[in-house]
Amino acid sequence: MFGNFTYCNPTKLYFGEDSLNNLKTELQKYGNNVVLVYGGGSIRKNGIYDDVLRILTESGKNVAEISGVMPNPTLSKLRAGIEIAREHQADLLLAVGGGSVCDYSKAVSVSVNCEEDPWEKYFVRFEEPECRLVPVGCVLTMVGTGSEMNAGSVITNEETKQKIGHVFASENVMPRFTVLNPRYTMTLPEYQMVAGIYDIFNHICEQYFSGEDDNTSDYISEGLMRSVIHSSRAAVKDPQNYEARSNLMWTATWALNTLIAKGKTTDWMVHMLGQAAGGYTGATHGMTLAAVSLPYYRYIMPYGLAKFARFAENVWDIAPAGKTQEQIAAEGLAAMEDWMKEIGVVMKLSELGVSEDMLEELADRTIPLKGGYKELSRDEIIRVFRESL
Ligand code: NAP
Ligand code: FE
Repeated sequence: MFGNFTYCNPTKLYFGEDSLNNLKTELQKYGNNVVLVYGGGSIRKNGIYDDVLRILTESGKNVAEISGVMPNPTLSKLRAGIEIAREHQADLLLAVGGGSVCDYSKAVSVSVNCEEDPWEKYFVRFEEPECRLVPVGCVLTMVGTGSEMNAGSVITNEETKQKIGHVFASENVMPRFTVLNPRYTMTLPEYQMVAGIYDIFNHICEQYFSGEDDNTSDYISEGLMRSVIHSSRAAVKDPQNYEARSNLMWTATWALNTLIAKGKTTDWMVHMLGQAAGGYTGATHGMTLAAVSLPYYRYIMPYGLAKFARFAENVWDIAPAGKTQEQIAAEGLAAMEDWMKEIGVVMKLSELGVSEDMLEELADRTIPLKGGYKELSRDEIIRVFRESL
């Protein structure tokens, strides 16, 4: 049945080559103390840091920095950042980077004025913040996560090797504004670009492969998937293709800004499996998803056959005439496999540092969810991991 829902997304988006020009106007809405949050240095090399700092200076802001936010940001880094934001009495956290920097800034935002331990409160008990949040703004430099327009935050506890995401219910956790300039993504190494492309695609799959109802979201999802497939091929062929980079950026945002999950159930098991592997190995997010996807989807396909056949026909243009539903569905996944190999994602967990002896521990760290076509037992989780090696 079509589910009841509330839809509110307050993130204001500025898209295009000149979109950073809007930062000055946005900055006027917040107090003087800005914490600039960024990663390991790519923005210093490609000049984005200088451009942002110039605007902050011209706006008369008092700027502190949290630098070195790593891919898959860690709990100890979060604790350090909370201290910096507290000392600086931050009025705004300005995240300049990819999903890691954006996720991390949201985790700092909900923790600055909260006395409880952020890991226990937000990533173990999945509670909502009761404290005053520090607003987050974002200048996105890597495409994939959708973090620029959602309330998700993924943090890795490096001591327990657990990587856990919390999608906050409160839209107040979402960035207040995001600057989306497709040109900023052109300095990404191909490995990161492709990992991001697969992350986008899988976000759509996670919301699509669930439920039997007729839902507008599934039609939107099919269009988004077709766009990702088309633009990914163009971007891999020519990374400087502005049109392809723009489409990928815009698709990534719509893939995970809550819209296509409205009124329906969702799966998210590929992310649970991928995050378990990522928490254990530190591997790149999108690649962990790619490595577990086909073994997982092939395993659950019989339980959601009609949807997998629809995916084959509507996303991959598989001709149905004279074929059984099983054949159509299997051909769809085969076409997906060909595309994954064509764009160059990692197809095996063993290439990401996972080995057979780790599988029990990975299963311990995998959070089983119920929304997909088949709820996996622990044995089934291990089986999917083994087939992904
Ligand atoms: P990322 O971890 O933010 O960045 C990956 C790498 O790309 C970094 O080494 C970064 O270098 C580099 N990079 C970023 N922009 C660049 C540019 N323009 N030029 C050159 N290099 C650039 O990647 P991500 O995939 O966006 O984020 C992954 C994290 O998001 C994971 O923790 C994942 O679990 C999480 N996630 C969140 C959501 C959500 O809904 N919130 C959804 C899916 C995944 P520097 O550090 O030097 O900048
Ligand atoms: Fe993701």
